[in-house]
Amino acid sequence: MKKKCIALYSGGLDSILAVKLMQEQSVDVVAVYFCTPFFGADVLHDPEKHREYHRRAYGVHITPYDFTEDIINAVSNPEHGFGKHLNPCIDCKIRMLKRAGRMLEELDASFVVTGEVLGQRPMSQRRDAMNLIERKSGLKDILVRPLCAKHLPPSLPERSNLVDREQLLDAAGRGRKTQIELARKYGIEPGDIPNPAGGCLLTDGQISRKVRSTFERFRPGKPGRADIVLDTAGRKFMLDANTVLVISRSEDENRFLSSLVWPGNVFLKIADVPGPLSIVRGDISEENLRTAAALCLRYGKGRGTEGRVAVYGPDPEAMTGTVDAPAAGEDYCRRFQIDLST
Ligand code: SF4
Repeated sequence: MKKKCIALYSGGLDSILAVKLMQEQSVDVVAVYFCTPFFGADVLHDPEKHREYHRRAYGVHITPYDFTEDIINAVSNPEHGFGKHLNPCIDCKIRMLKRAGRMLEELDASFVVTGEVLGQRPMSQRRDAMNLIERKSGLKDILVRPLCAKHLPPSLPERSNLVDREQLLDAAGRGRKTQIELARKYGIEPGDIPNPAGGCLLTDGQISRKVRSTFERFRPGKPGRADIVLDTAGRKFMLDANTVLVISRSEDENRFLSSLVWPGNVFLKIADVPGPLSIVRGDISEENLRTAAALCLRYGKGRGTEGRVAVYGPDPEAMTGTVDAPAAGEDYCRRFQIDLST
């Protein structure tokens, strides 16, 4: 076995520390950052900026990996069900580990490392779930979980002294005391310690409800990246059974939506008064464009005023089409809102 591993990396503190614990033992680590529109989206958007940040803040060289197709398949049909919201954590972990397992040979690495902590997450970090994940991933005996290794049977890299088990930890539960102390020991600046919230949007109730409605709309097929990405920002409306309108709620969301210059997306905004940028996706009919314009007007500075016009086009820098934007009342707007209550 070579002293080289692949680490599942999320940018969270636990995965950072798992990498540091291996580096401390002179293990060569390839930190694979799994990214989808629901987690790691910024990394996919600007990998170089994030490579530089992780190198500077943590001494970790990340290798971004686009995991979108896997997460769509996992959400579409999770063999092991969902967590509290639309997070198929056990299937997600199994798929990540399988991907890492397939990379082993290509990268000439011998084992896989994760930052899992026994008992930290209710769904995927119970002992039975961790055993199941290890078995189903096909990585039995070559999966090392350095933060809680002492609660688990020694893996092959430990038994063969490639990894010194004595230097691994016995962290368990939801507390972060051990991890914060370790972060200090490794010289991670307090401002660079990631907060514990996680950051997977599939664990967010509101976003999960939007994503669920998108998956239902596409059954028995599956939505694509461009469909699910629209569930991660803005106010969502359905103009008809197949046509989505997303209206931004802030400058940040304006910027985010303007980056989605993808086939099928049509950008629209009110021409002569400040207001939000929006995207229409689906049936780009005159009627849908007029409705989108009315809803955009409702959420901009021109709210309630008559005689407005919206511009639209396939790129926010090239909106050359025009359509009337009728002033619409609350009841009219509400008709197109999607139900996020269940
Ligand atoms: S929280 Fe999200 S990224 Fe993490 S295992 Fe669950 S589904 Fe995957």
